[in-house]
Amino acid sequence: MNVVDNLQRIKKELLPNVDLVAVSKFHPVEPIRQAYEAGQRIFGESRPQELFQKVGQLPQDIRWHFIGHLQTNKLKMVLPYVELVHSVDSVRLLEAIRRYCENNGLSVDVLIEVHIAQEETKSGFSLSEAEALLMGDLLAVCGERVRIRGLMAMASLTDDEALIRQEFQSLTALYRRICTYREEGEVAALAQFDTLSFGMSNDYHIAMEEGATLVRIGTDIFGPREY
Ligand SMILES: *Cc1c(COP(=O)(O)O)cnc(C)c1O
Repeated sequence: MNVVDNLQRIKKELLPNVDLVAVSKFHPVEPIRQAYEAGQRIFGESRPQELFQKVGQLPQDIRWHFIGHLQTNKLKMVLPYVELVHSVDSVRLLEAIRRYCENNGLSVDVLIEVHIAQEETKSGFSLSEAEALLMGDLLAVCGERVRIRGLMAMASLTDDEALIRQEFQSLTALYRRICTYREEGEVAALAQFDTLSFGMSNDYHIAMEEGATLVRIGTDIFGPREY
């Protein structure tokens, strides 16, 4: 597994306007450094403690993204260090992020995680819950310091490409409805609503065709993870 070759191959495949999140969770610092030296800057981590430790060992200009389930008691290990939280999956978490930001003089960008897959195990808002949230009173939930930049999702783990495509399309359809809605009014928390995060090693080609602006790729860059 040559991390640099993998990275360069994938970067050549990226469509214009698509950014790559190199998902480095469960991998040690050394391959991350190799990817960094080959020019990669955005890295994704899914566990607060692991993120916190890596931040201290790697270059300061890495743009860390948090992509895993975030518990409200772990915010201090994550929010000061990340450019984007992909995985906001409850109103309770959104409110906790808002309080943390207000208490610590921080602003943060987040995505709303939407459950589009068939598996019950995956987390996130349903499409209708996400729509109700985003068209509801966001100032009350987000305050002035939390900006919702877009939506994130994971498709079903399947070889059925038609199903994956259909799931991604359900997300982009919601995204377009929100974009239309925000053009009609001034919603501070949606001032910069421009990000669709979907597509992983097994489905990022489909994701790019369906409008992803961020793909999150781990295995195809770093190889299999050791759990
Ligand atoms: C682990 C993970 C990825 C990367 O998955 P690969 O199949 O290794 O590319 C992407 N997104 C999320 C949310 C993840 O947890």
